[in-house]
Amino acid sequence: MTLRELTAFSTELLSAYGRNDAPRAAILEVQRRRLRELIRVAGTTRRYLGLTSLADAPPTDKRAILDDFDAGIVAGAPRESAVRAFLQQGAPATLLSGRTIVATTSGTTGEVGIFITDDASFARLRATVFARIFRGQLKPEGFALLAKRRYRLTFVVATGGHTMTSVLALRMPRAGRIAADVSVVTIDQPLPSLVAALNDRPPLLLYSYATVLELLAHEQLQGRLRLTPEIVTAGSEPLTQMARQTLQEAFPTATILETWAATEHVALAVSCKLGHLHINEDAAIVEAVDDDNQPVALGEWSQRVLITNLLNLSQPLLRYRLDDRLRLDVAPCPCGSPFARVEVEGRTDDTIYLDDGRDFQAHTPIPFEVMLLGVQGLWQFSLVHERQNTLRIRVVTDPDADAAVVAASVGARLQRYLAEHGLTEQVSFVVEPVLALHRHARSGKLRQITSQTPRPDRFVAAASRRMHTAMSSLPASSSPSRRPR
Ligand SMILES: [Zn+2]
Repeated sequence: MTLRELTAFSTELLSAYGRNDAPRAAILEVQRRRLRELIRVAGTTRRYLGLTSLADAPPTDKRAILDDFDAGIVAGAPRESAVRAFLQQGAPATLLSGRTIVATTSGTTGEVGIFITDDASFARLRATVFARIFRGQLKPEGFALLAKRRYRLTFVVATGGHTMTSVLALRMPRAGRIAADVSVVTIDQPLPSLVAALNDRPPLLLYSYATVLELLAHEQLQGRLRLTPEIVTAGSEPLTQMARQTLQEAFPTATILETWAATEHVALAVSCKLGHLHINEDAAIVEAVDDDNQPVALGEWSQRVLITNLLNLSQPLLRYRLDDRLRLDVAPCPCGSPFARVEVEGRTDDTIYLDDGRDFQAHTPIPFEVMLLGVQGLWQFSLVHERQNTLRIRVVTDPDADAAVVAASVGARLQRYLAEHGLTEQVSFVVEPVLALHRHARSGKLRQITSQTPRPDRFVAAASRRMHTAMSSLPASSSPSRRPR
């Protein structure tokens, strides 16, 4: 950990915490100041040469970034060749050239992207998230109180590969370690050993993916997991109303929070105690737009979103497209936060329940994605649990890749995954190269991981059962796939 990182993290944590309840005008002033600096820095890159305003920045996306990676980075930042070499050989969450964080994403489109941030920018981004998570929790005496308690934070995440959650979990700035005891528990292990690891060192703050937390909540409700966290934070996936209720039932004394983040911007929004996501407008500009990148009316659902990362000064991302659908709301939240509210539909992948002959194993979506990260020539994939213990993976390959070779590589990785979980005999699968994947008819979204088999009864909590009953009594015009809040 560098001194730069430490300084940036502590400074930003304090200032961002101070903005939690600042007047909205003060936040927008910070936003304007940071945007001016971002535009100045971006204007030195080939992609944005001479840029003077955000409105003049053409919307961009993952494909455009990958097509000419070097055009979008500032002088002194590592070039694409160095970044790719690092992804092959470097350990995740270490620094490239002493100051660059590298992360890959599959994200909502299934296309693998590569992003870099300098260590100080990255520290500021994550400090923003911590400032919002701990809103109202820090006494006026300051952060020293935290130090006395050795606040244990546990990240239950996929740790293989260069994914952003892996980097986030493994790279806690030293400033954080003074106050907090950070542990990382990998989800790449059978559920009983995951539960045992958590029972062994119970956290006060538990962070994981929404689908994993839902699974852990079931374990807690059935008495195998015994945690009393103060804060439970869900990220990477939408937290459905059903999952939120299950979490609240399992951890009745915890504050259940949710973050909206992307590899391209790890601090887009954090929810308040009332469950409303608030955009970190001191770190991001979020534009809700239609298919032509034109703004939609306030309160209308967008087709996609353009994000501007105000804190990444190594690879400036301006008006970068994410395929999340959302709607913005600037009406004040009863929680008193000055930050604008947002509802995000986001991606909804399914947890897959496989029968190992004795019992059902729950396999959450993220490990499947991590497993397929870095397959040479793989452009997109979808995994469907078609019938109990029968999987189909459709793969779209790069035009210049050999589809059969890519399919074989995907098959080998899945075979290894199944073997690790004792499922080689029980589960069969097909890898099918295709030219394109089907998108959801209404939202146009790619669903990467879908289950067409029913959820086993023991993974349906009381809260969920009540919810199902309530949902089935809703009028047909309501939209169940909208991300409820
Ligand atoms: Zn609020």
